[in-house]
Formats: sequence, C-alpha cells, structure tokens
Amino acid sequence: METSTEEVAEEAGGPARPATAAVDGADAAVVPAAPDPVPVPAPVAIRPASLSPSRAGDFMQCPLLYRFRVIDRLPEKPSEAATRGTLVHAVLERLFDAPAAERTAPRARALVPGQWDRLRESRPEVGELFADDPRGERLARWLTEAEQLVERWFTLEDPSRLEPAERELFVETELDSGLRLRGIIDRVDVAPTGEVRIVDYKTGKAPRPQYAEGALFQMKFYALVVWRLKKVVPRRLQLVYLGSGDVLTYDPVLADLERVERKLLALWEAIRLATETGDWRPRPTKLCGWCDHQEHCPEFGGTPPPYPLPVRAAESDGTEQGRMGPG
Ligand code: SF4
Repeated sequence: METSTEEVAEEAGGPARPATAAVDGADAAVVPAAPDPVPVPAPVAIRPASLSPSRAGDFMQCPLLYRFRVIDRLPEKPSEAATRGTLVHAVLERLFDAPAAERTAPRARALVPGQWDRLRESRPEVGELFADDPRGERLARWLTEAEQLVERWFTLEDPSRLEPAERELFVETELDSGLRLRGIIDRVDVAPTGEVRIVDYKTGKAPRPQYAEGALFQMKFYALVVWRLKKVVPRRLQLVYLGSGDVLTYDPVLADLERVERKLLALWEAIRLATETGDWRPRPTKLCGWCDHQEHCPEFGGTPPPYPLPVRAAESDGTEQGRMGPG
C-alpha cells in the first residue's frame, strides 16, 4: 500500500500547514501565497524478495543495518577500501581476456589505470573519493596499493594455467520454499572431469581460524545455488585473500549445503517477521565503526526514517548487479 503525502506529514509530526495561512493576524488576502509545496515522495517499505550472501550477512550482523540497506535503501558513501576492491576484481576478471601466456603480473598492473577510468565512468560517485586531493598524491598511493594487491595474486594462483568457465557470474535460484537466492560468483573453474571449483577474491586479510566459518558462509551459499542450478555439489570452495596472501579452501559435502539451506530459511523467516512488524533491532558491535547509518541509528542517538506498514512486495533485495564492495 502506498502512503499518502498527508500520512507522511502526520508521521513526521502533524498535518501539513495550509499554503496561504495568515501571519500574526494579518489579512490573508495581502499575504503572498507560498509556492505549492513540492510533493514529498511517500516512504514505502519494500518487502524483500530474495537473499544474497551480503544481505544475509548484514542481517546476521545487525537487523537494523539490513533494514537501512534493503528496506529504506539509504544511500551510502563510497569508501576507498570498497572501491579498491571493485577495481581489483575488475582487473583480475579482465586479465583472462588475454591469451594464457600473456597473463603476467606486469600486464595485470598495466590494466589498473584503465579499469579505474572505466569505474569512474560507470559510477561517477567514486570520483568524489579524491575530490579533496588536487595534487593527486592520495590517488597515486591508492592506485599503487591496488597494483600491489593485483601483483600478490600471482603468488597465490597462476592465471596462465587457468581457464575459468565463468567470471563474475550472476546466479539465482529458487528454493522449494519459494525463497530466491542470488549473488555474483567471482570465478567458476570446471575440471575436465566435471568437478567444479568456486573462487572468490578478497582484497582484505584472511580471518583468524576461529572466524573462518563466517567467511565460508558466503561460499557455501554459492555452493548451494550451484547445486540447485546444476545438480552438482562443487568439489572445492576457495577464498583468495590478496590482502594477506592466503588461500582458504573447503571441500563441501551435501550435508553442508543442506545445513546452509536450513540456516537461510530460518534467517529468511526472521527477516519476514521483522519486515511485517517493523521490529528491526540494532545490534551494536565494533563493526558499527564502518556503518554509514549512525545518524539514523538509535544506538548513536539517531532516529530511523518512518517505517510505513504494511509493506509492499518487491522485485529484488537490492543485490548489486554490479559489484561494489571490498570483496
Ligand atoms: S551503527 Fe551499528 S547498530 Fe546501528 S545500524 Fe549500524 S551496524 Fe547497526
């Protein structure tokens, strides 16, 4: 249900004033009429229709963060780390356009400036990151860091010996329950024997062993989607950490995927309940330091935007069709 402008005004603190109200007892006829107010778009809560690993991770981290991103769709400022992740992913993907023998570290480094130009063209907002850097020194350092991450990849994998079956693959499937799962897989390798390996690049550092399970959640999510789509349990899940030079692998079995499916269904039920009731609890952790929404978060003295009920069905959960994240 759409919410009318009047309802929004009431939620915001009372009905809108008449446009031609008299001032201090003056004759209304001689008071210049205020211009018609610009209609404020009514906030509409959108019921999520699908789940991606990132958004599932958001809800597990903090339900209110999930709400801000998926329901309210509050804008977020680009960050240097996230944008560098996007850039590095683009370079690693494009390198496979070259013949195998030419997939060298110098060639990969040389792709960085051009891919940065393309990124700025497709997402002009990332240019703001360096708006206060007229001499370009910070930008130059940032580009060098991106090149170093690209170069480190060659110590972990040899792209001249890889022929990915898929790169930046958008996947989507529907579980028996009706829950739609979707996401973007960095790379899919398929061996001549048909065994599937799912690979994801991370520009950060590998987690400590006690946190590895959290990192693998995303990979098991993708493995579940691949299993549903191709009826094949991926042989290996591989996380390549360019920040620390580590590779984390896991060989899943069917029981892992069934477990992750049950977990996602429970998560989806919790999301559905919160969407219907509007009860999105903040869950403060040290990750709040990276949250763009503190000004709307009660934990930081903020007020969330009005939450109109009931919610309206949506076509997507806001999963990025184009990658934008630190990876
Ligand atoms: S600041 Fe912390 S508690 Fe508040 S919405 Fe962000 S992640 Fe959640």
